[in-house]
Amino acid sequence: MSKEKKANLETLCVQAGWTPKKGESRVLPIYQSTTFKYDNTEQMADLFDLKADGYFYTRLQNPTNDAVAAKITALEGGVAGMLTSSGQAANFYAVFNICEAGDHFVSAASIYGGTFNLFSVTMKKLGIDVTFVDQDASEEELAKAFRPNTKCVFAETVANPVLSVLDIEKFARLAHSHGVPLIVDNTFPTPINCRPFEFGADIVTHSTSKYMDGHATSVGGCIVDSGNFDWDANADNFPGMTKPDPSYHGLAYSKAFGKKGYIVKATAQLMRDFGSIPSPHNAFLLNLGLETLHLRVPRHCENAQKIAEYLEKNDKVAWVNYSGLKSNKYYELAQKQFRNGASCGVVTFGLKGGRDESIKFMDNLKLACIVTHVADARTSVLHPASHTHRQLTDEQLLEAGVRPDLIRFSVGIENVDDIIADIEQALNK
Ligand SMILES: *Cc1c(COP(=O)(O)O)cnc(C)c1O
Repeated sequence: MSKEKKANLETLCVQAGWTPKKGESRVLPIYQSTTFKYDNTEQMADLFDLKADGYFYTRLQNPTNDAVAAKITALEGGVAGMLTSSGQAANFYAVFNICEAGDHFVSAASIYGGTFNLFSVTMKKLGIDVTFVDQDASEEELAKAFRPNTKCVFAETVANPVLSVLDIEKFARLAHSHGVPLIVDNTFPTPINCRPFEFGADIVTHSTSKYMDGHATSVGGCIVDSGNFDWDANADNFPGMTKPDPSYHGLAYSKAFGKKGYIVKATAQLMRDFGSIPSPHNAFLLNLGLETLHLRVPRHCENAQKIAEYLEKNDKVAWVNYSGLKSNKYYELAQKQFRNGASCGVVTFGLKGGRDESIKFMDNLKLACIVTHVADARTSVLHPASHTHRQLTDEQLLEAGVRPDLIRFSVGIENVDDIIADIEQALNK
């Protein structure tokens, strides 16, 4: 909708996706129905042939889910989007919609642990090979990772939990000079802080479980397509997009659906066959979260900035990583790519005394609680070496960019003075 494209992000957060007609519910309704009714057999047949737009079974599409996907698509400035039941499903679909057995893709090495596992173990079993690269390497160095069968490039705008900031323009140049699209997981900054399409990314993914939901109620994911990548320019490289699909009477997605072809294919093939659809009720909760995303994200970042500055000055702290600190190696890049230079509300740090000191500190926190989650309203904390990365030796941890003493501190939207007081009492114990 052109009206939505022109509105500011704050307005899109509140209003995009659902525009009620006369007498309809002002609030996005929950279409808690597996199925949808038609008047004759031909109407339904046209849906199965992708000749007509509409709903028939919630495993493929549901109106509540689609309204929320449309909101996120508007926020990212894309042309089409879809919700998935988790961030994991979003990243799997985003890559698998392009790559098939025998193909290869390039991924940044410092990415979320679940995604690393998906790419390095599970997708290999499907015959899709990945090369992990150091995202801070030169373009010349990075170009060495490409092969004739490379089909896409993947990275996170701000990596979880390492917090490295991606130079999106560099990665977009690299992908495009090899004739492939760039997929960016934009979970941590959200479109409030960064819109990767403006820097050349082609496809954006999200774990909506984090800031978008914002209250830790619902696991979910989203894929948004910019519509900018020209699949037909290298048609032989992307047969799934450009050649006839035998499971849809020989229809070719890039030709039949133009700029929306990528998302239509992900819905018609992958959602049909794998079925990782969110429940409409979860989409409704996600939409409530999105309505305040523009208020919450800046508050998370303000609080995180103050906490990072407090930690940097504290002599019990060995190191602090937050791109809002002038001492941070990503400071300049964050200023350029992020609104107000703000990346996200997650800060990582280590204490003098190493791993054992970090564990003791965490056990003494009262307001901040230990949970396997980031990026919700409540301040939370995790020690990756003891939790998410527990299986790794100290040597493997360093290879993954996760220092053994690393504390992942997800700053909430409480009063920052109370959070700092909690950190202080735990440091002094
Ligand atoms: C959490 C996370 C995921 C996985 O999302 P789920 O919703 O937990 O499946 C993917 N990418 C990033 C950056 C994440 O933080």
